[in-house]
Amino acid sequence: MSFVHALRCKECDAEYPITPRTVCDHDFGPVEVAYDYDRMKGKVTRESIAAGPQSLWRYRDLLPIEGEPRAGFNSGWTPLIKADRLAAELGVKELYIKDDSVNYPTFSYKDRVVSVAITKAFEFGFDTVGCASTGNLAHSVAAHSAAAGLRAFVMIPHDLEEGKMVGMSVFAPRVVRIKGNYDDVNRLCSQIADKYNWAIVNVNLRPYYTEGAKTHGFEIAEQLGWKLPAHTVSPVAGGTILPKIYKAYQEFIKLGLVADTKPKMHAAQAAGCNPVVKAIEEEAELFRPQKPNTIAKSIAIGNPADGYYVMKVIRDSGGFGASATDPEILDAIKLLARTEGIFTEPAGGTTLACAIKLIQSGRIPRDESICVCITGNGLKTLEVMAGQFAHAPVINAKLGEFDSLVTQIEESQKAATPSKV
Ligand SMILES: *Cc1c(COP(=O)(O)O)cnc(C)c1O
Ligand SMILES: [Zn+2]
Repeated sequence: MSFVHALRCKECDAEYPITPRTVCDHDFGPVEVAYDYDRMKGKVTRESIAAGPQSLWRYRDLLPIEGEPRAGFNSGWTPLIKADRLAAELGVKELYIKDDSVNYPTFSYKDRVVSVAITKAFEFGFDTVGCASTGNLAHSVAAHSAAAGLRAFVMIPHDLEEGKMVGMSVFAPRVVRIKGNYDDVNRLCSQIADKYNWAIVNVNLRPYYTEGAKTHGFEIAEQLGWKLPAHTVSPVAGGTILPKIYKAYQEFIKLGLVADTKPKMHAAQAAGCNPVVKAIEEEAELFRPQKPNTIAKSIAIGNPADGYYVMKVIRDSGGFGASATDPEILDAIKLLARTEGIFTEPAGGTTLACAIKLIQSGRIPRDESICVCITGNGLKTLEVMAGQFAHAPVINAKLGEFDSLVTQIEESQKAATPSKV
C-alpha cells in the first residue's frame, strides 16, 4: 500500500491519475506527485524510516512506487561529512558535505532519480527505457537498466568527452549521439517518447524520476540527527534537485520528523551557464535561456525545465544564488580534495565555489550551519584537471636521492609558511 494520492498540477492543482504524464491539460503546468500526508501520520516515523534498508528505499513511503523497488537496492544513503578542516579554512562554524560523489553504482546523484524511474517503468509495463543526458544520467540509466535486464537507449549531445562515453558504453546500452546541445537532445526525446512509447526517464516519467531527488534531502536531515541545516547550497542544472531537497525538508516538517527551522536554499551555477542565478540576482520574474560555455558540462543546461521552480524556492526560503567561473571551479575542486579528501567533478567544484562566494558576501552567515551538496565524482572528468599540477619529481631508486629531495621539500615549505612563533 502506498501513500500516493495523484499527480497534481503545480499551477492550477488539477489532479490526474498515476500514469506517464508530464504536464497539465489545462495550462501545460508541470505535474508533481501528491501524497496523502494525513494518512502517513503515526505510520511514517523516525523509527519506521530508521528500520528501513541502508539505501534510498528507506524513504519508500515518501516515494511514488506501488510495489517493491526494482532498482537501486544499494543507491543513496551516501555519507554526510562534517567538514571541519574545510570549515576552518573558510572561517565558518558548522559545515557539512553531502557526498553523492560516492553514490552507488555510477557515482553521481542521478542514481537516486533513476532508481525510482526504473522501478516506475516496470510498474507501467515499459520494456525500453531511455534518457536525454549530459553524461551522468546516461551512466546511471545504462547501469541500472543492465542490472534490471531492461533495454536502454541513451541520447546524448555528439561531443561528450571520451571518459563519459566509456562510462556509459560499458553497460551496453544503445547510445545515440545527437548533433546539437542538451536542449536539442531533450526536444528530440519528447518526440521519441510519444512515438515509440518508451520510458524516457527524464521526459515522460519525469514526475516520478524527480521525486527520487528528495532522498538527497531526506538523508541530509536524518544524518544530521533529524535536524535541518540553516543553509543548503545545491547545484542547478535542469532544476530538479534543488526544489526537491526543499520539498523533502518540508515533508519532514509536515510529518513532525524535524523542527521547522526555516532552512534557506541557495542555487549554484557555472558562470558560463547561469540563467537561473542571473535572474535571481536581477530579481527578474523569469530567466532568460543561455548557450552554455563552461567546464561544468554535467550542469550546463541553458534552458532548465524547472528553473522557474528553483527561483520560487529560493525566494520562498529566503536564500540566494551565486555563479563560479571555470578557474574558481577548479580551485574549489582542489580545495575540497586537499582539505577533506573528496574528489568531485566540476559540478561539485561549482557548488563549493558558490558556497564560498555566498559566505564571503554575507548571504550565508559564518556562524550558521551549512550543507554543500556534492553531486558527482571527479574521476569521471579527469581531463578538466589536466595541467593543474606540477610534474612530480623523478629520482633514481637510491635513498640518497630521496634524502636530498625531502630536504628540498622541507626547505621550500619553511620558506612558504610564515613562522607563527
Ligand atoms: C544532473 C546533475 C546535477 C543537477 O541537475 P538538476 O537537473 O538540476 O537536478 C548536479 N550535479 C551533477 C553532477 C549532475 O549530474
Ligand atoms: Zn494546471
